[in-house]
Amino acid sequence: MTTYHASCHCGAVSYDVELELEGLATCNCSMCGRSGAIMAFVPRGKVENLQGEEKLTDYQFGKASIHHAFCSVCGVRPLAWGKGPDGAEHAMVNVRCLEGVDVHGLTVAHTYDGRSR
Ligand SMILES: [Zn+2]
Repeated sequence: MTTYHASCHCGAVSYDVELELEGLATCNCSMCGRSGAIMAFVPRGKVENLQGEEKLTDYQFGKASIHHAFCSVCGVRPLAWGKGPDGAEHAMVNVRCLEGVDVHGLTVAHTYDGRSR
């Protein structure tokens, strides 16, 4: 496991997260299809030292099962969260927001068909 520092563009929102850059997913739902996050799913507790939570605007749609948060200053989506199929709280880390990660070197393992759900 590697610990990464993540932030939005303006730096108002940041956090640390321990994860491996494996099992990454993109999604074609009406939200992700537009905003293009590459996501890693981690237990919510893996997101630590969250700064600037008050700058996050929560956004929900559809079944409102996921909090699609974005920075109210710069508009970047550093993370989302919600309950997984097992009922546990998960965070969806936008790995594009991790410091020191070459986004062109990432391998997307799963394409999630959110559009059909
Ligand atoms: Zn920001």
